[in-house]
Amino acid sequence: SPIPDYLNKVLDRVRDDTSGANADYIEALAKADPDKMAVAVATVDGQVYSVGDDDVEFSMQSISKAFVYALAIEDRGLSGVLAKIGVEPSGDVFNKLSLEAGSNKPMNPMINAGAITAHSLVGPPDATAEVRVARILKGMSMLAGRELKVDEAVYEAEMKDWHRNMGLGFMLKAAGIIECDPAEAVKGYIRQCSINVTVRDLAIMAGTLGNGGVHPVTGKRVIPSLSVRQVLSVMTTCGMYDAAGDWVSRVGIPAKSGVAGGIIGALPGQIGLAVFSPRLDKKGNSVRGMSMCEHLSNDMGMHMMDIT
Ligand code: GLN
Repeated sequence: SPIPDYLNKVLDRVRDDTSGANADYIEALAKADPDKMAVAVATVDGQVYSVGDDDVEFSMQSISKAFVYALAIEDRGLSGVLAKIGVEPSGDVFNKLSLEAGSNKPMNPMINAGAITAHSLVGPPDATAEVRVARILKGMSMLAGRELKVDEAVYEAEMKDWHRNMGLGFMLKAAGIIECDPAEAVKGYIRQCSINVTVRDLAIMAGTLGNGGVHPVTGKRVIPSLSVRQVLSVMTTCGMYDAAGDWVSRVGIPAKSGVAGGIIGALPGQIGLAVFSPRLDKKGNSVRGMSMCEHLSNDMGMHMMDIT
């Protein structure tokens, strides 16, 4: 079929680029095979295509932030979430210890400060990490269409080095942004980052965002359209951290990256896509993953500012 053939060509075009390096601050990610690579697309009418190492599981890491933001909106309402987390691009590294001047809120839900806060807004206010993660796993599994699980080795590795995220947790607690025990919020956030997926899972999950919240395979509405609009808006302005401006002009697809090497993209009314390759650039985005997305965008005319 022509689509897998085309996707294999996309892999071939970026295969020789071995620049960048695995995330080294999480031991389990440092040890991942850096040569693995895969790409998947899900159309809004439910066709899913994937090639390369499309059965290799890797942790979602920051990609989880987009979906947990949607769950926080579901549980607290958009105004409840906006009262706690801003929507301004930070232009800073993702784990920056910072709050917006004046409001004292995290700048946006795609950097760690905002994502730990979004995590704390899922479920009842006094929920434990266990309760929140169970809710998050259920929601994400429904989107993926199979039961997703936490990678315990990745979780343990990241917990060994949780001080920076815990620093964010204490800062958020002191600022009155998170209500629960900061350690529970940070533990739960790190567990949510450790959920394993394949590019196929991610493409289907992104396909729901591309389809306005209606699951492309089951045809069921699973995310309200207003939440999808909010999620895609912050993915556009903040999804690639301090490379967001470069990304939106070159690729032009709302996207979210994670430090395990995954990236999702979702174009309203058209497609969900996912790529995987563990080597990252200095900003924490997958090098070959970004190139694959650029090829897909150019070849298929997917830049959101182009008239098709
Ligand atoms: N769990 C990672 C962290 O908090 C996620 C970072 C990322 O994917 N950018 O550091």
